Amino acid sequence: MTFKTLLAAGLLAATALAPAAAETIAIRAGRLITDAALPARGPSTVIVTDGRITAINDASAPIPAGAIVIDQSTKTVLPGLMDAHVHLGGDADDAWYVNFTPKRTEAYSVAVGLHNALITARAGFTTVRELGAGVHAGVAVRDAINDGLAPGPRILTAGPALSIIGGHGDNTYGINPEVADALDRAWPQINLCTGADGCAAATRAVIKTGVDVVKITATGGVLSLGNAGLEQHFSDAEMRSIAETAHRLGLKVAAHAHGARGIEAAANAGIDSIEHGTYADDASIKAMKAHGTTMVATLMAIEGLKERLGKGFYTAAVETKANQVVALQGKQLAAAYKAGVPIALGTDAGVFTHGRNGEELGLMVKLGGMTPRDALVAATSGTAKLLGIDKDTGTLAPGKSADLIAVDGDPLQDPAAVLKIAYVMVRGKAIPLK
Ligand SMILES: [Zn+2]
Repeated sequence: MTFKTLLAAGLLAATALAPAAAETIAIRAGRLITDAALPARGPSTVIVTDGRITAINDASAPIPAGAIVIDQSTKTVLPGLMDAHVHLGGDADDAWYVNFTPKRTEAYSVAVGLHNALITARAGFTTVRELGAGVHAGVAVRDAINDGLAPGPRILTAGPALSIIGGHGDNTYGINPEVADALDRAWPQINLCTGADGCAAATRAVIKTGVDVVKITATGGVLSLGNAGLEQHFSDAEMRSIAETAHRLGLKVAAHAHGARGIEAAANAGIDSIEHGTYADDASIKAMKAHGTTMVATLMAIEGLKERLGKGFYTAAVETKANQVVALQGKQLAAAYKAGVPIALGTDAGVFTHGRNGEELGLMVKLGGMTPRDALVAATSGTAKLLGIDKDTGTLAPGKSADLIAVDGDPLQDPAAVLKIAYVMVRGKAIPLK
């Protein structure tokens, strides 16, 4: 039977499920942060019905009849954390050749992605942006979680990162050219492009796979096997074409960028966020400020590199590049923060062990000079704004999605409090912590 005949027979419509009865949950909080930018409330109760917050009351107010009570009255309840830069389909201890081994198909990376998505949610992250996955794996992981097949955070995915031929997003750059040739024929890379028209076409091809955001590698990258440096890769015209094409289709663009001129060109091209931003100088920070470009500093990525450098884990070319960037950890964030550039939290999880994402807040305070409050704003409403979902999440208010966590201590005073997770709820559903 074809799809059309199914439709005609009314069989597709008949499979629609009847709506489930409303479920009301009351979460008792000892301290409640509704918005990281505002003073915290004292003992309060958050009422959630069918995934949405319906009321925020003082603890003395009566609890609706029949509500399931979640007692977090010795904890701080706050908006769920968000990570604007993760790679769920890989792990930090994967050797560089792991994707050439028999079982590591794109299908297998969906299982890896679901596993890491749950680890990330358990760490208090109720939304993540997946910035670099296979052509279909990132979309599959997102959809499986949305369909309730597995517990996990809300995911916005970029699919494969747009790249120049021989750039950071070219999977076969830096390996034996005969092998590269065979691989490129087996798996055409839809994300590689040249010229403004070619890059508009590649942007559309990536968007057609169902992604939520476009990622580009504006400059070379530390972990790519080739030695194409860390400066600007795409031309100014190519970056403008990608940004305009994606924006016209309603998607934002995130640019992986290390070198200063690559950062400046990406900001001037209208790209929405700079990922890493390692060598940001006065001119590139000025361009970001002028265009309202968000800094996503991924300080935890450097922790991942530091823990693996000098152990024979990376190839020689990668080791050289990694040694150049570790000394600069946090300098870009401090400069952006001082200049008033918008800041979102992003970690590059997958370069370090998944689940340690919350350590980024401590680094944002220690190395970026941010106050604990501003780090928490970046980790919640700041990232929601960058992702374009701030009307739905990032703060707690009636009508918003019930994305919240409970922690020991006060994260407005101590960023390490977010490492002590007692409870996680994503879109009204509790995440099993064990
Ligand atoms: Zn990354």
